[in-house]
Amino acid sequence: MGQPLGRNPTQYMMEKAFIAANLGWRYLTLEVSPENLPAAVGGMKAMGFRGGNFASPHQVAVVDYVDRLTESAELIGAVNCVHIADGDYVGENTDGKGFLQALQEISDPVDKKVVILGAGGTARAIGVELALAGVREIVVANRSTDRGQALVDLLQSRVKVAASLVEWKNDFVVDQETDLLIQATAVGLRDAGAVVPVDMESLSDQLIVADVIHNPPRTRFLREAAERGCTVLDGVAMLVNQAARDFSIWTGIEPDKTVMRESVEEFFEL
Ligand code: NDP
Repeated sequence: MGQPLGRNPTQYMMEKAFIAANLGWRYLTLEVSPENLPAAVGGMKAMGFRGGNFASPHQVAVVDYVDRLTESAELIGAVNCVHIADGDYVGENTDGKGFLQALQEISDPVDKKVVILGAGGTARAIGVELALAGVREIVVANRSTDRGQALVDLLQSRVKVAASLVEWKNDFVVDQETDLLIQATAVGLRDAGAVVPVDMESLSDQLIVADVIHNPPRTRFLREAAERGCTVLDGVAMLVNQAARDFSIWTGIEPDKTVMRESVEEFFEL
C-alpha cells in the first residue's frame, strides 16, 4: 500500500518470484490514501492477507496499526513490511537491511565515514542499520533541520555512533575523508533529469555513491558519479534485497534474487 504507486515494480517482481518458487501466491498493488490507512489495514486482516509492504507515505503512520514491532522497526520508527504471526500483525523494517546487504556485496562498511543526504524514513532505516554494522561516523545532510536533528539524535542516543548534522542549503561539498555518499531523499523519483544539489566536483574516484531511487534505476546523480569514476550502487539493488527479505519472512523460502532483479529490469525495459 502506498500513494502514489504508479510504475511501482514490486508486484511484478514478487509475482515472478512466487512463480519461480512454485507458490500460487498473489501480491497486490493497492493505492491507499493516508485517511484510509487504518481501514485498509483492518481490511487486510479481515481478508486474511499473510503480510504486505507499506510504501510512502505510510511507513511511519502504520506503526500505530500493527499489533507489535520488531526491535529494528521500533528503533527506526517506521515499518515497510508486515507479516502475520500467531494472529498478530508484526511490523518489521527491511529497507535498511536491504540497503546494507546490497552495499556488502560491493564493500565492507565497517569503520567507514558515511554521508546520508536526507532524513526521512528511508534515511533513518539506512542510518540505523549502518550504525549497527559498525560504520565509524555518519553525517546527515538535510534541508529541514528538525528532521535532520531527530535522525542525528536517534543515531547518537540509540545506536551510539558518532553523528552530526549539516543544514543542506546549497550544493553539498563532500569532504575527502568520506567513504560512502548515500542519496536517500525523494529527489529523482520518476524524474531522470532531476539534479541533486551536490558539488559533483568534490566527488573523488575512491567514493562509493548510492542512490535509493529505483525508478528510474540509473538516476542522473548516479550517472554523473559514475562518470567521475565513483563506484555506484543503484536503488534496484536495495529494492531487490529488501524484497527478498520480505519474501522469506512471508513464505519461509529464500527467493531467487536473479529472477527478482531481472524482472525489475524487464519491467523498466532496461
Ligand atoms: P520521506 O518523505 O520520509 O523523506 C523524504 C526526504 O527527502 C526528506 O529528508 C526530505 O527533506 C528530502 N527531500 C524531499 N525533497 C527534497 C528536495 N527537493 N531537496 C532536498 N531534500 C528533499 O521519504 P522516504 O524516506 O520514505 O523515501 C525517500 C525515497 O526513498 C523515495 O523516493 C522512495 O522511492 C525511496 N525508497 C527506495 C527504496 C528502495 O528499495 N530502493 C525503499 C524505500 C524508499 P525534508 O526533511 O527537508 O523535507
